[in-house]
Amino acid sequence: MEKTIIKDKLTRPLRDLRISVIDRCNFRCQYCMPADQFGPDFEFLPRSALLTYEEIVRVANIFVQLGVEKIRLTGGEPLLRRDLPTLVEKLAQIDGLADLALTTNGVLLPKLAWELKKAGLQRVNISLDSLDDKLFGKINGRGVAIGPVLAGIEAAKQAGLRIKINMVVKKGLNESEIIPMAKYCKANGLELRYIEFMDVGSTNGWKMDDVVTKRQIYELLEQHFELEPVTPAYYGEVAKLYRYKDQNINVGFITSVSESFCSSCTRARLSANGQIFTCLFNGNGHDIRNFMRNGATDEQLSERISTIWNGRDDRYSDERTAGINNDRKKIEMSYIGG
Ligand code: SAM
Ligand code: SF4
Ligand code: SF4
Repeated sequence: MEKTIIKDKLTRPLRDLRISVIDRCNFRCQYCMPADQFGPDFEFLPRSALLTYEEIVRVANIFVQLGVEKIRLTGGEPLLRRDLPTLVEKLAQIDGLADLALTTNGVLLPKLAWELKKAGLQRVNISLDSLDDKLFGKINGRGVAIGPVLAGIEAAKQAGLRIKINMVVKKGLNESEIIPMAKYCKANGLELRYIEFMDVGSTNGWKMDDVVTKRQIYELLEQHFELEPVTPAYYGEVAKLYRYKDQNINVGFITSVSESFCSSCTRARLSANGQIFTCLFNGNGHDIRNFMRNGATDEQLSERISTIWNGRDDRYSDERTAGINNDRKKIEMSYIGG
């Protein structure tokens, strides 16, 4: 398929698309959807507001024609969206798409992993912030123990999906789990990614003091393991990767706060209700759902998406690092998709 390469104002190409398929979740992780803010009365998007699978596939096709090679499904909790394997199957057939992945809390994987793999899903990132039942239950805000997530990891393994584990580290909360998680992942042949606690949205009470930086985590790891750096596999690789010297397994860091990577950020995000966001921290979404529902042709859609990308100049994390005041309307991670 002929691809058109489009670039933004900072000459960054469009390469990745994150699609949030739902804004609801069965967890209330305190760094993402704190239970006191996302209570029983919280108004989630009505079903009619969500993009249909046909609409998602149509938009995804156009994104791929404009240079996207990787698509990741996320949420909220994407496995809560009914018949997700049907969507995966349609996305997997898009000509020119090289990589189809999913981020999940893992709890529903025992039910769905096999079907997702059969539908064409290649990879899953499973979030797990602790191996301690009590602490994990506190973090996920629902008292869910680790058993269901471990069962999800096992199911993904059995189904033949490639797996990475995401661990958000927050000071005073789960630093004690940094080493146990490394040992668990290493022993089970799993690539672990430590994610710095980020200032997404406005409900998680983020403070710089709560961030455990890559450097701090790395120094701790070095006391237990011998590591060597791994050269990035491609332009725009977000994780800083290392390998255990005694075992061919990587461990990575998402350094959104301490070492920003905006200069090579090639990601667009599509929210569950059909808004395009050009940065995790830019709350100004661009509607394409109503545009489509009002009869836009594929050419018009393509033009609209190109215009949005061409006008992109976001570099929020770089600005935060440089101390530039970039206060602006923010958007919740559960809505935009992490
Ligand atoms: N529910 C799925 C899950 O938890 O994997 C997918 C959506 S979740 C928003 C995607 C990723 O974002 C998860 O790995 C989660 O840990 C991470 N995340 C959420 N809030 C975050 C924050 N404030 N800082 C850093 N990572 C965060
Ligand atoms: Fe749900 Fe994922 Fe957010 Fe946790 S991080 S509340 S599992 S969307
Ligand atoms: Fe990309 Fe925005 Fe994150 Fe920078 S702050 S890496 S532009 S999503």
